[in-house]
Amino acid sequence: MAETHHTDMLIVGAGPAGYTAAIYAARAGMNPILVTGMQPGGQLTITDEIENFPGFAQPVQGPWLMEQMREQAEHVGTKLIYDLITEAPLKQGPDEGGYFHLKGDSGDQFRARTVVIATGAQAKWLGLDSEKKYQGAGVSACATCDGFFYRGKEVAVIGGGNTAVEEALYLTHHASTVHLIHRRDSLKAERILQKRLHDNPKIKVHWNRAVREIIGEGSPAVVTALELTDTQNSTNTERLAVDGVFVAIGHSPSTGPFRNEVLCDEEGYITTQPGTATTSIPGIFAAGDIQDKIYRQAVTAAGTGCMAALEAERYLAEKKYNS
Ligand code: FAD
Ligand code: NAP
Repeated sequence: MAETHHTDMLIVGAGPAGYTAAIYAARAGMNPILVTGMQPGGQLTITDEIENFPGFAQPVQGPWLMEQMREQAEHVGTKLIYDLITEAPLKQGPDEGGYFHLKGDSGDQFRARTVVIATGAQAKWLGLDSEKKYQGAGVSACATCDGFFYRGKEVAVIGGGNTAVEEALYLTHHASTVHLIHRRDSLKAERILQKRLHDNPKIKVHWNRAVREIIGEGSPAVVTALELTDTQNSTNTERLAVDGVFVAIGHSPSTGPFRNEVLCDEEGYITTQPGTATTSIPGIFAAGDIQDKIYRQAVTAAGTGCMAALEAERYLAEKKYNS
């Protein structure tokens, strides 16, 4: 049977941003409720080795790290609910008791005096079966996260925007050669980045090329090559030997039911006031990748989750609500 939950803080999203907000809010006595969505643990649950989250001398597994964050959040008093927020009419403002009204896919109602939106973002993928098959075995969407594993190897980056060029430049610190594969004959990236790209002897640009297949070999199978087609003459195909491929064709923020409620930019990322987690609606905060299209790291997501909880605590103190 559907329930109605009341809380001083509802956290939407169970990634590093959501769990960190939960840890701070619970320790501040705000009895937070965290709704996990379809991917409890968030993006890090689909990656093997994490080497850049501080506090661990050895690489840790993504799913393990997220389990630790969940346990920590629950240990200090967060209530976890496995549901998906589907309705969030935030623009209509709080009711007389100061509660915003949200609804879950289960039919549960959530009454929250503050909301932290931490729904993250998802990398866009090419949509090939082979891309799914080799994720974590040569296919990645994050050079900062996985570039280190390609020291002295040949890698490819797919895309022609700022992200692709930045990923390619970053990978030159590790890889011996970086192949940038772009489906057009010109890049969308800013001129300054294009100049850096063309000036870098480790980068080779393959114009008018699309990835038709990602090839793997061995046991367990890992990426060994790409099959490319000429976008101007699809009968022309070629094979390019690489050890890894980084898909950098953009990200989509998971703004979901919040899109038309809080102020977002043209791509759907939630706009926060600079240096804060405050959205366009008082009492509603945003943390993590949902409001960050530049850094997109677990540690920055956690940092903004902390900011959101501290700001929410201040908001509640100023409102002086009776529980
Ligand atoms: P996410 O981790 O994206 O979590 C979003 C959460 O919101 C999920 O729990 C989801 O279920 C929930 N949600 C979405 N919509 C709803 C809804 N409507 N209702 C309820 N819940 C909802 N970063 C690093 O720092 N180091 C790395 O090594 C690293 N490796 C990566 C490897 C891969 C393959 C990927 C994809 C990313 C990697 N990243 C890495 C980036 C890192 O995962 C993200 O920056 C980080 O997870 C963002 O955290 P977040 O809390 O903002 O959101
Ligand atoms: P983007 O600007 O949307 O570029 C995506 C690129 O991927 C385009 O070149 C596009 O090709 C290509 N692409 C899309 N779908 C594809 C597919 N299915 N197959 C092959 N190629 C595909 O995305 P982004 O580079 O991630 O940037 C997103 C936003 O963040 C932009 O506003 C960007 O300026 C910003 N950003 C800024 C910085 C910075 O300021 N330093 C860094 C990173 C990102 P087409 O060109 O053919 O469309």
